[in-house]
Amino acid sequence: MNHVVVAGAGLAGVRSVEALRARGFDGRITLIGQERHRPYDRPPLSKAVLSGSSDSSFVDADLAVLEVDFWPGVSAKSLRPGVVETSEGELGYDGLVIATGADPITLPGDGQQHVLRTLDDALELRARLVKGARVVIIGAGWIGAEVATAARRAGCQVTVIEAGPTPLAQAVGPEIGARTQGWYEGIDLRLDTLVGSVDEGGVTLADGDFIEAHVVVTGVGVRPTVGWLAGSGIDLDNGVITDEHMRTSLPNVVAVGDCAAWWSRRFQTRLRVEHWDAALNSPEVAAVTLLGGDSVYDPVPYFWSEQFGHMVQYAGHHPAGDRLLYRGELEGKWSACWLNSDDTLAAVLAVDRPRDLVQGRRIIEGGHRVDAERLVDPDVSLRDC
Ligand code: FAD
Repeated sequence: MNHVVVAGAGLAGVRSVEALRARGFDGRITLIGQERHRPYDRPPLSKAVLSGSSDSSFVDADLAVLEVDFWPGVSAKSLRPGVVETSEGELGYDGLVIATGADPITLPGDGQQHVLRTLDDALELRARLVKGARVVIIGAGWIGAEVATAARRAGCQVTVIEAGPTPLAQAVGPEIGARTQGWYEGIDLRLDTLVGSVDEGGVTLADGDFIEAHVVVTGVGVRPTVGWLAGSGIDLDNGVITDEHMRTSLPNVVAVGDCAAWWSRRFQTRLRVEHWDAALNSPEVAAVTLLGGDSVYDPVPYFWSEQFGHMVQYAGHHPAGDRLLYRGELEGKWSACWLNSDDTLAAVLAVDRPRDLVQGRRIIEGGHRVDAERLVDPDVSLRDC
């Protein structure tokens, strides 16, 4: 293999470059990214960057040392065997890493709606979050909650509109979501409310009501960025389908990060998680695969969110679980554990209890059974349950 093209210069893209070099690949690598920035981390955008304590979050990778040919501001437009068509012309490859991430979903209407995906989005939005500004945030998921945190801290008048019955209902279910509702103090939180369109000066609800806003932020989820692969013959279904080695249906093509829907040996289902940990670690396996080795990506998915002064951490895959148990106090630090029917742990969500997260993740990795009676006692360490 002489030339590897990496399409997408986010975390998964740059980690792919690093992993290829770490595995001894000394051929040519071209990294193409449609943003003009060098690779950066996205989690700080809705935290440190939005709150003003940082202006950027560039990844600590030296592209010169990695001897990568970096093409910023260049898009992959289409794919045929051995060739990526880019906005700058054709690029032949022997190996291809698809790392084009995900794009935010926007809502109908002619009004200005902010999304939060890129560094430029974050800097633009930050400038609008000023004291007294009327800010409407559509969606009380992870991004909506973090933007609401920053907007409230900046002294904005914040309204959050959520289609579901509680915040985070779609992500972790309404029972857990209800436990976070109290965090929205001072925010006009409207649940079970559908937005019809974003219009000049505000948001029109599905029932016709109009909510005025200086700033509208849409945080209703993302879609994998795979439009450019249409017609390539690659298997797509909610992202680029890969096996457990991150191998796609096309020869010498792997996919990583937010755009990859990989087969999970552990959970016996296809997973596509839009979280930093997958972008960090799936490239390691993809690089081995591309170079002809044998490695399996089989993580216990992990992510975190910082919202309203709380650290929320999650590990596992809760749809597999069938019983929900709690540790700790609703008003304070607590954890939720999803148990399978055989008393193994499917997932853990920890609020300001990082130790539960670390120990829970290990229990899930090991497939150990837990004692439900001991588990609900927050004074018993999770690893001793
Ligand atoms: P991306 O980061 O989306 O990178 C893909 C890159 O490819 C982009 O730069 C894109 O412009 C480029 N690209 C797209 N199409 C093309 C094309 N056709 N040609 C060339 N380039 C292209 N996860 C957590 O676990 N915890 C958090 O707290 C957390 N906070 C987050 C906060 C924000 C604001 C955001 C947006 C995400 C957050 N995430 C968090 C999720 C995490 O950042 C993502 O899972 C991660 O960035 C995915 O990395 P990626 O490289 O797969 O995709």
